[in-house]
Amino acid sequence: MTNPMNKKIIIAIDGYSSTGKSTVAKAIARRLNYIYVDTGAMYRAVTLFCVQNGLIDSSGKVSERLKSLLQDIKIEFRKSGDAETAETYLNNVNVEKEIRSIEIANHVSAVSAVPEVRELLVRQQQLMGQAKGIVMDGRDIGTVVFPDAELKVFMTASPEIRTLRRFSELKAKGETVSIDEVRKNIEGRDFKDTHREISPLRQADDAVVLDNSNMTPEEQLEWLYEKVKEFE
Ligand code: C5P
Repeated sequence: MTNPMNKKIIIAIDGYSSTGKSTVAKAIARRLNYIYVDTGAMYRAVTLFCVQNGLIDSSGKVSERLKSLLQDIKIEFRKSGDAETAETYLNNVNVEKEIRSIEIANHVSAVSAVPEVRELLVRQQQLMGQAKGIVMDGRDIGTVVFPDAELKVFMTASPEIRTLRRFSELKAKGETVSIDEVRKNIEGRDFKDTHREISPLRQADDAVVLDNSNMTPEEQLEWLYEKVKEFE
């Protein structure tokens, strides 16, 4: 679809885990013909690298060695064939499925709290948004990556709904996981993401809140599209 808007803007979408950020972000990017960037996938890819290289110990602590290995990590988004959305590649290997596992989800908040990891990924994200016409979702997009983004959205939903959504998503992908494990993961990540020292998850002062507990994906898209139209 062609973009009916003349002016290209940056749309920053932040919020808690499993609030459906990527669903609405992908939908609005498609409607506006914008680029969509899933920054959570980048932190997940670095986490997978850590797991593959034994950089996380049994207590969940991330090894200092990661810092000297960061230069060996190449993350890209590539579209294969006629796929609608891009997939995540770590050092030329498609890791889209692996990074969505509960194992990676259980370690990602520790890895994303490492300042050097954030510096590296934030720099890459800022480069991706230079030409605007981008929708980026994550935890610090409106506060750190693009503090001047034209439109900032902060997403939230009730913990029960988020747990159910993520549980169904993981089950549909064939992962054996209990609902309790999913709930603990979401609560744990929210706590760590909002309490870390560097770039904690918080609502930007100028963000608009989208509580989608009782909204369909279509309603969310329309809600967001109305906001975008204000920039015409
Ligand atoms: O969005 P997603 O759930 O895939 O993000 C996975 C994790 O990556 C988050 O729980 C958070 O620890 C980290 N993250 C972050 N900053 C971002 C995006 C994700 O710290 N911009």
